[in-house]
Amino acid sequence: MPNPAPEHSDPNPANDDEGPNAERCAEVTGPETRTRTLSADVLVVGAGLAGLTASRILAERGHSVILAERHSTLTTTVRTTGIFVRRTLDDFTLPPECLGPPIRRVALYPPARDRSVTLESERDEFRVGDMGPLYEEMARAAVVAGARILLGTRYTGRRGDLFSATSPDGPLRIRAAFVVGADGARSRVARDLGLDRNRRLLIGAEEVFAISAGAEPPTFHCVLDPSLAPGYLAWVVNDGEHAHVGVAGYSHRFPSGIQRALQRFSATAPGLEGSERSGEVERRAGPIPVGGILRRIASPEGLLVGDAAGAVSPLTAGGLDPCLRLSEHAPDVIDEALRGQPEALADYDGAALRTRFRGRLAMRSALALVRTPAMARAAFAGLSTPPGQAAAKRILFGDRSFPDPA
Ligand SMILES: Cc1cc2nc3c(=O)[nH]c(=O)nc-3n(C[C@H](O)[C@H](O)[C@H](O)COP(=O)(O)OP(=O)(O)OC[C@H]3O[C@@H](n4cnc5c(N)ncnc54)[C@H](O)[C@@H]3O)c2cc1C
Repeated sequence: MPNPAPEHSDPNPANDDEGPNAERCAEVTGPETRTRTLSADVLVVGAGLAGLTASRILAERGHSVILAERHSTLTTTVRTTGIFVRRTLDDFTLPPECLGPPIRRVALYPPARDRSVTLESERDEFRVGDMGPLYEEMARAAVVAGARILLGTRYTGRRGDLFSATSPDGPLRIRAAFVVGADGARSRVARDLGLDRNRRLLIGAEEVFAISAGAEPPTFHCVLDPSLAPGYLAWVVNDGEHAHVGVAGYSHRFPSGIQRALQRFSATAPGLEGSERSGEVERRAGPIPVGGILRRIASPEGLLVGDAAGAVSPLTAGGLDPCLRLSEHAPDVIDEALRGQPEALADYDGAALRTRFRGRLAMRSALALVRTPAMARAAFAGLSTPPGQAAAKRILFGDRSFPDPA
């Protein structure tokens, strides 16, 4: 049993403990160039949910895996609220100690916030992940399986099967038969492999702080206000332990920038009455691809997972469920390709998956059209009717998620 201590927390890869596949991650130092060369079956770029999941599964299947992450920690650069939906919680094993209390209630507001529509579910619908510890737990599992995680290591380019990176120890080359682009919405790997790239993006920003339980049960508050969140929503998630106050929208449509919109919303955000704030405020932000899964997400040299593949619901902007599903599917395909069946890559077909997103893409276009408070009020009036509420419940509490890629 390899030491499950956080090997990855040491930014110096030379100090890494050895996992089960370590002997196959060969390392050569060229004294003449001082550029180290590592080799592995698979290089995974990016240690978010997608890269950590794919790395663990590939290592469990016996492949030597190097996971390169540009940041020097996994905990200080979280870019997600971390709301996991019921289907994800049912289908995937996530460490329970990294999940907040269940949420069954959603409150929807028009721009003036003078009314609200509350939707209640009989089931636990959402739980918010404590994402830093969750990433660390997933990294530990990947290391135990044999993956080698190099923090502070930025992928910078590719020539054939030789990938270049910068690391805390200087330049690094990694020789790998296959590369997995888990490097987020603006994927450099996608560019270098000549695969499709995300063009339609929202940006999101939020503040997170600890909070005491208030009078109301855990609730997800959503405000439809294009002046605060153009093309999307402003939100407060208060699960009685933490509150997330955020806005997202099309970057060019924020009248005074997203940070100003967040400040404005934060000053009057709903759902925090009666709860006491404590501790520091953590700030998170990042791009969210909403153009639907990309068509070309695989080539004989590599493939894309998670945000890099555009695997995000275009309507809700939820990416955690698609990210986990695609990152579990990708290792099957890579496994076959590395065992001499490159035709398996044809199964990793974004164009085929994309056809199942038509409805959600149409609804995204409709939401993007809500440009003025008057239009938001009209949309809210629709949501206040019984059919409107039934439709909102189907979207928020439904059983549909990312289509099964298998
Ligand atoms: C503000 C915000 C809130 C969100 N809230 C939710 C939510 O509540 N629920 C939900 O389902 N979805 C949510 N999403 C979407 C969801 O978070 C993402 O879809 C998901 O986290 C994507 O995971 P990923 O691993 O593909 O990408 P990321 O988490 O972005 O990970 C990519 C990793 O690659 C690394 N990287 C990038 N380039 C390089 C390089 N050159 N070399 C080395 N490393 C590199 C990055 O540092 C990063 O660690 C939210 C998104 C945002 C921005």
